[in-house]
Amino acid sequence: SVVDLARLQRELNQEQVAAAAKTEGPALILAGAGSGKTRTITYKIAHLISAKNVDPRRILAVTFTNKAAREMKTRIQQILEGRVNLEWMGTFHSICVRILRLCLANDRILQVLGWKINKNFSIYDDDDQRKMLKEIMKPIFGDDLDAKALKQARSIISKYKNSVVKEPLPAGGYRIVLQTPTVALEHAAFPDQEKMAGVYRDYQAKLAEANAMDFDDLLLNTVELLQKLPQVAAQFANRFLYVVVDEYQDTNDVQYELLKLLIDRTKQNVTVVGDDDQSIYGWRGANIDIIRNFSRDFDHVTFFKLERNYRSSANIVKGAGSVIAHNERPEEMKKNVYSAEPAGDPIHVVNVLADTFESEQIAKRIFEAGKEQYAKTAIFYRTNAQSRAIEKALNDLRIPCVIFGGTRFWDRKEIRDILAYMRLLANPKDDAAFLRIVNTPPRGIGNGTLDALRLSAEANNSSLWEAIPTEIEKGGRSAKGLENFKNVVELWLAMLQNKEALPIIAEHVIRDSFYKEFLKKEDESTAEERERNLDEMVNAFREFEEENPDKGLDEFLQEISLLTDADKKVESAETRVTLMTIHMAKGLEFETVHIAGCDEGIFPLIRESSMTETPDERKKQAEEERRLFYVGCTRAKRKLYLYHAGRRFWQGSLRRFPPSRFLEEIDPMTVSVEGKCDDDSEQSFTGEPWNQGFSGFGGRQRPGFGNRLRPQYGAYRGPSSSGSSSISRGSYGRNPERATGLHKTERIV
Ligand code: ATP
Ligand code: MG
Repeated sequence: SVVDLARLQRELNQEQVAAAAKTEGPALILAGAGSGKTRTITYKIAHLISAKNVDPRRILAVTFTNKAAREMKTRIQQILEGRVNLEWMGTFHSICVRILRLCLANDRILQVLGWKINKNFSIYDDDDQRKMLKEIMKPIFGDDLDAKALKQARSIISKYKNSVVKEPLPAGGYRIVLQTPTVALEHAAFPDQEKMAGVYRDYQAKLAEANAMDFDDLLLNTVELLQKLPQVAAQFANRFLYVVVDEYQDTNDVQYELLKLLIDRTKQNVTVVGDDDQSIYGWRGANIDIIRNFSRDFDHVTFFKLERNYRSSANIVKGAGSVIAHNERPEEMKKNVYSAEPAGDPIHVVNVLADTFESEQIAKRIFEAGKEQYAKTAIFYRTNAQSRAIEKALNDLRIPCVIFGGTRFWDRKEIRDILAYMRLLANPKDDAAFLRIVNTPPRGIGNGTLDALRLSAEANNSSLWEAIPTEIEKGGRSAKGLENFKNVVELWLAMLQNKEALPIIAEHVIRDSFYKEFLKKEDESTAEERERNLDEMVNAFREFEEENPDKGLDEFLQEISLLTDADKKVESAETRVTLMTIHMAKGLEFETVHIAGCDEGIFPLIRESSMTETPDERKKQAEEERRLFYVGCTRAKRKLYLYHAGRRFWQGSLRRFPPSRFLEEIDPMTVSVEGKCDDDSEQSFTGEPWNQGFSGFGGRQRPGFGNRLRPQYGAYRGPSSSGSSSISRGSYGRNPERATGLHKTERIV
């Protein structure tokens, strides 16, 4: 099972072999969707380990989700027919946690950093974050504090954390400065910005007090640590003989800075793999220029292009390619992706009158394809809200479905409650965990007591847990409840200290807290299912201990909190159709893909905020939407359906929608069109100005994507290559009135 050159040649095509066998020096594999990028680096790592005798623990491999990391590990073990310890294969976040836990266990490092946080830190999730922000913002915002303000604050803080300030150096080049609260305050130009930077500062202080980090901090703090301690960074860089990064097009500035710190500058053994046409996380700080500038940042980069798509039939590859060609791209980045497969089915564009028909059509087609296809079928949509109608239609036909990224096991309330107990045991300073369960189940600890605890904790610079004894001494109304709570938690802490098995501690927590009794009291009808979930959770602890005999509670909690959105997949989807937003679909493949809502305004999505954006920003957004569309289409192996509804309920009212510009951009030779999306009476368009359809955008239309004369429905003009199933191709497509109407309204913008 040695992966030597001959083996590579058997499993990969010529370009893929070249890329996999090139182990030394910086390499960029830039390739289209489905061209075997992930497959190539999987073989590359196997080749390094088995043919070049590289210690797998000295390979750093970054994947986009934990699931992708697991799959790659499994695949490599299959290829090598043996266990391989790829301990540094994971997401940016999981790698950061590893680095942090290693470094923060070292007293000297802690001293130099001067951080309050120690290696037992908790990882705060969205919920914890919201709670903490609320406490900070309440006194500042007063009654103005609503869900929207909170959401905004969270997104601003996340922006601070995911972007950097570039300070030019006198000698040329830049110094990368992280946006810590101090830096954010320095750069705040307006009172509003100052206010938010202040919230950011208080938020960070509170996190530190709770010995906790949020998701973004994992990255930020690792980079800060490595920047402050260059000798530590050098040790890591020295340890990692080879660095491999998948989905490189979605790296952000902070992640890039981290990579540069971890890559040995003299060896520069780094392979990055990506497709700039699939960069879809710009809104979260991903910077497409990072992949485009790779050759500038490293010396003598070897550049590999993979162009043959192995995933999809030719029509799909060609159709998707014709859409993405509408984006402006640097010449050297252009790829000519092709498929050597047969043409296959045409891309089915399905027009319907209204949104209800859309979900019916989707369900009907899936039903007719038969049960065996369910698990190989996915339905994508642009926004989460669109899933409800589809779920309903599937349910009507008794088609089981699973929402990828929906409420998963570890997000269920009862699970999160018991996890909060476990978190408190792992880190008694974890105030968010404390607050979640100190009175759940109720033990007579009221808000008054909590306020008193807070005050006393603040006065003594301690955590809430540490403030309990003082409160008990005061002998207030809740003293008894607090005492009981303290006693039982101390009992569990002692068990943990004595190295009692984790599933047994978890069982104790559930029993001693009378949690199951509480569930029954809360809601008899759901209690049984929730209890089953709790049993399953104890089971998860058992499995974890069996698989990781040398790991403890910290590591368990870490694993849970690192499940990223994209990992939140409900298990056992063998017979179910998968629903998800397109953002979640990256890297995946399905036999059949249905994309709902290919309507101008929905996909591309036109946000209300687009009104205030500059033409340049709008263009950037439109291009990102196009990449998203490209990602969606290229997930399909054999069948691709694109739906357009002429009318739909959208943000509270019934509106008209023209077909998505992306439908017009598809090479007509690859498409067959079915159905109609309007009443077929020209009046309905000529008599009615288009802007009524978009009244929600302030009477103006297509903000964000204006100023472009539409070609006349290109996709509907040409003859369909299949010719077979096209029904009344483009009933609206040749309607000159309609095109003129659009033209007119576009000029209003
Ligand atoms: P994406 O851009 O979506 O991430 P990718 O470039 O990573 O795609 P892979 O997922 O590695 O592509 O490959 C797509 C499909 O094609 C997989 O099913 C893979 O096994 C198959 N494939 C890739 N290369 C080959 C090859 N040389 N021979 C046979 N099958 C291949
Ligand atoms: Mg891939």
